[in-house]
Amino acid sequence: MLRTENLTFAYQGNSALQFPDINCPTGEHCLLLGQSGSGKTTLLHLLGGLLTPTQGKVIVGETDIAKLRGARADHFRGQNIGIIFQKAHFVKSLTVEENLLLAQSLAGASGDKKRIKDLLERLNVGHKLNARPDRLSQGEQQRVAIARALVNNPKVILADEPTSALDDVNTEEVIQLLEEQAKAVNATLLVVTHDGRLKDRFSNKIQISG
Ligand code: ADP
Ligand code: MG
Repeated sequence: MLRTENLTFAYQGNSALQFPDINCPTGEHCLLLGQSGSGKTTLLHLLGGLLTPTQGKVIVGETDIAKLRGARADHFRGQNIGIIFQKAHFVKSLTVEENLLLAQSLAGASGDKKRIKDLLERLNVGHKLNARPDRLSQGEQQRVAIARALVNNPKVILADEPTSALDDVNTEEVIQLLEEQAKAVNATLLVVTHDGRLKDRFSNKIQISG
């Protein structure tokens, strides 16, 4: 379950951004819509515990993550939240498999190469296990980013504009994958987008205005 209450955040020296309350129950798939600059990425970072709100609560499961700090916050995020950033960033000197092993290790889990292989295969990038991420196409990188977000079986999956750079066919494929994968681990899925094409795919929608 993913829920917020009276969330506000201000970048240093800027006026506060106020966010509508979110309530995305366990296992549900929600879409957060808003124009460019409306605060979608900021909200996603608050939901993922990467930013600390000025005011308000971010509840993941039973935990108010706005109250967690430092290593406890990192550990909680690693175990419970999978984030797909708008632009995937990997450790360039490591292979795809090593990047995913790193994600497991950062969450305090022991390396599970079978899980990594299975996930990559389901996402049709199993053959890229030993490749460096910057040798992959954008679409392949996106799939690997999805695999990395899912590798620790997160309770919550957050995706920032996962389809903004994609044509209709790939958009459909990525959304289907996210939905399927979320379903497989009964995760709560929140997709953030300005992409009007996704409107009809989600019944649970939240609009933010900038
Ligand atoms: P969106 O993802 O919807 O395009 P963002 O959350 O990236 O919106 O940005 C919301 C607002 O916060 C914008 O006005 C943006 O300029 C501002 N902003 C984003 N990141 C920073 C930052 N690191 N420092 C100061 N202002 C920022
Ligand atoms: Mg953004």
